[in-house]
Amino acid sequence: MSLRIVVCVKYVPDATGDRHFAEDLTVDRDDVDGLLSELDEYAVEQALQIKEAADDAEITVLTVGPEDANDALRKALSMGADKGVHVEDEDLHGTDAVGTSLVLAKAIEKTGYDLVVCGMASTDGTMGVLPAMLAERLGVPQVTQLSEVSVEGGVVKGRRDGDTATEQLEASLPAVVSVTDQSGEARYPSFKGIMAAKKKPVESLELDDLDIDADEVGLEGAWTKVEDATERPARTAGTIVKDEGEGAKQLAEFLAGQKFI
Ligand SMILES: Cc1cc2nc3c(=O)[nH]c(=O)nc-3n(C[C@H](O)[C@H](O)[C@H](O)COP(=O)(O)OP(=O)(O)OC[C@H]3O[C@@H](n4cnc5c(N)ncnc54)[C@H](O)[C@@H]3O)c2cc1C
Repeated sequence: MSLRIVVCVKYVPDATGDRHFAEDLTVDRDDVDGLLSELDEYAVEQALQIKEAADDAEITVLTVGPEDANDALRKALSMGADKGVHVEDEDLHGTDAVGTSLVLAKAIEKTGYDLVVCGMASTDGTMGVLPAMLAERLGVPQVTQLSEVSVEGGVVKGRRDGDTATEQLEASLPAVVSVTDQSGEARYPSFKGIMAAKKKPVESLELDDLDIDADEVGLEGAWTKVEDATERPARTAGTIVKDEGEGAKQLAEFLAGQKFI
């Protein structure tokens, strides 16, 4: 039977762009270009390698996000994933991690899965909590923060590198894993892959399709609330110390004035 892999890919604001909060203190997504979270490219890469090593496997890439999140799916499809699922609904605006995990879990159950692969964290929220929340909601084991992953005979195996130890972990399928940026460079989509991605199927789902009520998600359903946010002050021009014989002294005085020494 085919190994069904679902990769969760997030569409995030480009970190090199000028990012702002909107009036309701949610991220202003209209103001900045987005892209597939770079950390989720590692998840797609590992899924592709698992598929290449398997007799028969199919990769579905799943995103919960606005209309433009389709770009994240197309990038993953151009890398080699087989099909996409896009959950989009205006009631999702302001959804927090708990709500996002509910939507992802329902979409994963609807799609069908043996293995869910996530990135180690998104590059915007960077909470790194979604994989654990998903495993809890799906009622399956989680093996997170893997720098090496493989599937053999209904078991997912992986290596987790910590500060003090390296662990070899395994779990029976179905399971949720997350992979780190040490798991191996993600491939670039080929021209053929980009052209093929245009024809790959992407299923669009709304909250109704997943039996989720609007009040379970969005700002209303959020367990967390951003009370206040202050923009970081603009950078000031630095102090230039000209060395005319007293440079070291002036440098020391400057550092002492800033309480660095
Ligand atoms: C339409 C929409 C609007 C939102 N608005 C807000 C808001 O205003 N304020 C707010 O606090 N939060 C908002 N969120 C939620 C927020 O953007 C995060 O998705 C959520 O809080 C999870 O936190 P994280 O990104 O840090 O996930 P992490 O736990 O860091 O993510 C780990 C992994 O989970 C997977 N993953 C995470 N998010 C998604 C996703 N959306 N789709 C697919 N895979 C995913 C990826 O594999 C990722 O690498 C919104 C989400 C959506 C979909």
